[in-house]
Amino acid sequence: MEEKGTISVNTENIFPIIKKFLYSDHDIFLRELVSNAVDATQKLQKLASIGEYSGEVGETKVKVVLDEKENTITISDRGIGMTGEEIKKYINQIAFSGATEFVEKFKGIDDANQIIGKFGLGFYSAFMVADKVDIITKSYKDDTEAAKWSCTGSTDFEITSAEKTDRGTDIVLHVNEESKEYLEKFKLKQILDRYCKFLPIEIEYDGDILNTTSPIWTKSPSDLEDKDYLEFYKSLYPMSEDPMFWIHLNVDYPFNLTGVLYFPKVKNDITLHKDKIQLYSRQVFITDEVKEIVPEFLMLMHGVIDSPDIPLNVSRSYLQSDSNVKKINNYITKKVADKLIELFKDDRDGYEKKWESIGLFVKYGMLSDEKFYDRAKGIGLLKNLDGKLFTFDEYLEHIAGNQTDKDGNKVIIYTNDRGKQDAYIQAALKKDYDIVEFDNVIDNHFIGTLEQKLEKVSIKRVDADVANKLIDKGEALESVLSKDEEAKIKEIYKSAIGDDKLEPEVTAMSAEEMPVTITLPEFMRRMQEMAELQGMMGGGMFPSSQTVTINGNHPITAKILAESDETKQKEIAKQAYDLALLSNGKLTGAALTAFVNRSVGMIS
Ligand code: ADP
Ligand code: MG
Repeated sequence: MEEKGTISVNTENIFPIIKKFLYSDHDIFLRELVSNAVDATQKLQKLASIGEYSGEVGETKVKVVLDEKENTITISDRGIGMTGEEIKKYINQIAFSGATEFVEKFKGIDDANQIIGKFGLGFYSAFMVADKVDIITKSYKDDTEAAKWSCTGSTDFEITSAEKTDRGTDIVLHVNEESKEYLEKFKLKQILDRYCKFLPIEIEYDGDILNTTSPIWTKSPSDLEDKDYLEFYKSLYPMSEDPMFWIHLNVDYPFNLTGVLYFPKVKNDITLHKDKIQLYSRQVFITDEVKEIVPEFLMLMHGVIDSPDIPLNVSRSYLQSDSNVKKINNYITKKVADKLIELFKDDRDGYEKKWESIGLFVKYGMLSDEKFYDRAKGIGLLKNLDGKLFTFDEYLEHIAGNQTDKDGNKVIIYTNDRGKQDAYIQAALKKDYDIVEFDNVIDNHFIGTLEQKLEKVSIKRVDADVANKLIDKGEALESVLSKDEEAKIKEIYKSAIGDDKLEPEVTAMSAEEMPVTITLPEFMRRMQEMAELQGMMGGGMFPSSQTVTINGNHPITAKILAESDETKQKEIAKQAYDLALLSNGKLTGAALTAFVNRSVGMIS
């Protein structure tokens, strides 16, 4: 048998296109050819199991062999093989028809990436690295002749009969000059390890079996113990601490999906934990860059998702718009929420103990996904300074009595730094206010989400105002100062501080509070933080946004007003102002040294 022919494509040559557009990821040729070999082997096993093939199944390993002298890579299987006719059908016509369609659509369209994503080039990806490919194959069917197909990367092919006596297929790649890197033993092993680690048929390379053929996600949860999950986790992420818990995913309708997702113990640096999920399609590795494919908040989770419904050879932008991918995302979101809700309901104590870590997933989920917020709003917790944890509803009830302002808004007061904000915390505690701790890396964003979602609630940092004004209950303390005295004390402070732009306020506060307090209104602080985040000038942009509040009812205020020596007056005012700066953490450098020297002078 000998036959020559021309692959009928309407375009001159699609190979340059294959080379050009798949350029960024040449490694996948090996994934494609090895998974074809696996498919062919599984098909044979299937036929044998249903009695359609009655011969010996025997050895089923897929072998990858590198010949550094001949510059070839050979992928061999003992699968169903092909007859000459089948090669023409499956390799020449069908595979090419996909590629042809691709070329057709590609004409006149700028965004080639959009298009290429829709067509798996499968077998033909071999031409990214080879300038000649041979298929030597013999069908499992009795009385068929072995065939050899050769193609040099043009639309011309050649089929001849071949010597092969054993069932199966050898794909021989004559690696081209630009792809020499693939002729390195180690490089090839690296790629195989990446893509073939969990293939269902044994893959042999350089004398070793490279894969685990039944990874845990393919098994039934009832056949697995905790230690199996932990072992698998270690095999995926050798350097990581044990995870907190995991979810075994298993759906077959309306799409097919299996996998195991782990909740790692997250330390403060979130970025370290991001982007670790691996995506598989029938145990063939696709990618571990799942950004934009899985929901944003899952980025913190680890593990494996396997779905034949996630198309293999497709571009990122295509995946994002794929309706299966969307359904899968919704499903996973629901699963994760369900798991967390179950933990909360079954063992609230245990849940609270792990809140430090779990909280990150819950908060991250809530702020990046509306649906997740709605599902999980009953299990988000707030921690107060006594270390007590409340659900949102519980907390709002807890503070309703003492922390509702005159307009009926409940005011949540928080600290994000107990050490630095201690003076303000103490002042608020004196008013019996409850204070929540928000010191997690993502709390800043989370606060915004909470404010949006919780009705008639405002959230203020404890140093956003003097304790008296944190919650405006519409009841002002009577001032002991006359209007004249107020004006006078303001002037004294202005000249003591030496800043013309500064306009101190005088407020009637209780006598036990500080004589002077420096605060930054919540709104201003958030603006500043936003500016800083965006790399703008930050604090510098709002130079005099801080509020300086003089406590009109403090004995020191009376003392200053009663003092006849102007220098003395200013000295006391300056000292009181510096103390306010000090408890705000703002007294530094030369000003701090001057303050210390002045204080030493005062006590000696
Ligand atoms: P796909 O795998 O998506 O069908 P490919 O381009 O990878 O597309 O392969 C095209 C066809 O060629 C396969 O469907 C199969 O019929 C045939 N084929 C490829 N490799 C082998 C092989 N190793 N053994 C038997 N048939 C093969
Ligand atoms: Mg294929």
